[in-house]
Amino acid sequence: MDYTLSLTRHAAEVLDAHLLGDRSREQMAVTLCGVNRLHRELRLLVRDVILLPPDAFRHQTAVRLELKPEVQAFIHQRAHEQGLIQVDWHSHPGPLRSHPGPLSSHPGSVAFSATDDEHEAAQAAYLAHRMEGVPFGSVVVSDGAMDARLWITRSRQRKGKDGRVRAVVYRPEAQPLQAVLLGDLRRVIPTTAPGGAVPHDPALSAVHDRQVRAFGQAFQRRLGELRVGIVGLGGLGSALAAHLARLGVRDWVLVDPEVVELTNLNRLVNATVTDAQGERPKVYVARSSVRQSNPNASVRALQTDVFDPEAQRALKACDLLVVATDNHASRMAANRLAVQYLIPLLHAGFHIGVEALPPSPSPARQGKDGEMAVTDVSGEFAIPDLGRWCLQCAGIVDPQQAGWELAPAAQREVLRQRGYVDGTPAPAVCHLDGTVAALAATEIHNLVHPFRPAGNGQTRRYLVYDALRAELTSLGVTPSDGCPVCSPEDGVLGLGDLEPLPDYRRKPQLPSAVRLATDAADSRAATRLPRGHREPEAAAGEELALQLATPSPQPGGNGELVPDVRLPNRRARAQRLQVALDAGPDPDWP
Ligand SMILES: [Zn+2]
Ligand SMILES: [Zn+2]
Repeated sequence: MDYTLSLTRHAAEVLDAHLLGDRSREQMAVTLCGVNRLHRELRLLVRDVILLPPDAFRHQTAVRLELKPEVQAFIHQRAHEQGLIQVDWHSHPGPLRSHPGPLSSHPGSVAFSATDDEHEAAQAAYLAHRMEGVPFGSVVVSDGAMDARLWITRSRQRKGKDGRVRAVVYRPEAQPLQAVLLGDLRRVIPTTAPGGAVPHDPALSAVHDRQVRAFGQAFQRRLGELRVGIVGLGGLGSALAAHLARLGVRDWVLVDPEVVELTNLNRLVNATVTDAQGERPKVYVARSSVRQSNPNASVRALQTDVFDPEAQRALKACDLLVVATDNHASRMAANRLAVQYLIPLLHAGFHIGVEALPPSPSPARQGKDGEMAVTDVSGEFAIPDLGRWCLQCAGIVDPQQAGWELAPAAQREVLRQRGYVDGTPAPAVCHLDGTVAALAATEIHNLVHPFRPAGNGQTRRYLVYDALRAELTSLGVTPSDGCPVCSPEDGVLGLGDLEPLPDYRRKPQLPSAVRLATDAADSRAATRLPRGHREPEAAAGEELALQLATPSPQPGGNGELVPDVRLPNRRARAQRLQVALDAGPDPDWP
């Protein structure tokens, strides 16, 4: 079993500043973590960061750190109530040799002290006793280095001759963490992490020779380790897959329910007329495409949509998610997955707007019957700054539109007739897909291996390409408070397996109704559409009230499909945590 720890970039920066702030004494912080249980990996996901100020300590010196008992109790209580795993961070003091500090990956060395071992073993046993076998993590940082471990405690009952339990014996054991992920694909390997070198492939070395000359072997190795999940393998998704495959990504999860049609051939990378005639799934075309540059690529091609639990299980095991679809519902689902499991996400999309020109007579500018004017040709990508903003609070995903798209077919047809959802195929052209895909691949490259000069604007989080003006614009996003998805208080940030994902297909609890007036002048006679209703003949003046997932108009209301995330159910979370810890085929898992 591999153990890893994931943070958002924001949390990593906050911890970095706190732990390195005053280097004359040891500093401490506590993170509370959700969990992502994978086949052979347990990922701890930092949700809460608690920075401990000087008055939280009974002793705080250069060699000793002891929390006040009431602070310790507060932290235990908070972890217990929220069903989260506690991971303690502390620094070993000393002069700073270089900056950026210990959370950045540059060589150095730090080790847990004998005192750390002793205190942490006792703490691990106490927490395992109090929270029924829950593990306890710890991280030590110093200048230029980090070490990290997870304490797993086995317990055994000791019985007397009469068969009664005399005592419970706890045996905590420290397991090294393989990696600490600091958001945006940055990673630190702890000093005692077991080595897991990627096998060397001489053929691939030759393939990437020309880029290694500029960006180095470490960049190439890191790309080779990443599992990339792409949702949507249309023109844009297939172009991005082809770019990333050539760049060196070799582990894939591809998700798209559609098959190739003749109308896709103007832009779908590597698709043929035979594919369209044979109705070949788009994910199989993309799989062939990535294997052209690496025949040994590991590809999980799922001909389904992102709402399918099987796809969600495969996607939560990825290191990077890409959503390149043309609808809000799938973007909303990918965004939720990224936020809940702290997986870096890239959304890419485009828009071509056309307007029918009014027919003649007169002014020379007007077109003939049926002539169109192109009003917009633009593309964009966005990489949410998890912990600060996500696609939903940035307005890139519209939960109301998503709700309409997810409505049952009959309701969607009503919405289409009234112009709330577009039923006609959107215009698309290959060079727009290709440009956006190349821009997005550039940014992914820069995340894996920052090649732009450090400082402002190093990462382009939201980039818009306007093909009408031939302009690139980098947009800023203002973080919004209280996002129902990504807020650390009310959202699902870092909860991982501790919170169920919404069942988008069933749509159990719909927070509010949308009122659609066919005639605004007469909007009193409301008709509620029952479940499984047939398409109504909408008479003039009739108003339809559709039950759909939309943002609630009340302050603090949320537009998510399952609005119960505000109420942490400790018992349910504790059960899910146990399931996550117990699950899987690994018999060594305690
Ligand atoms: Zn220490
Ligand atoms: Zn958000």
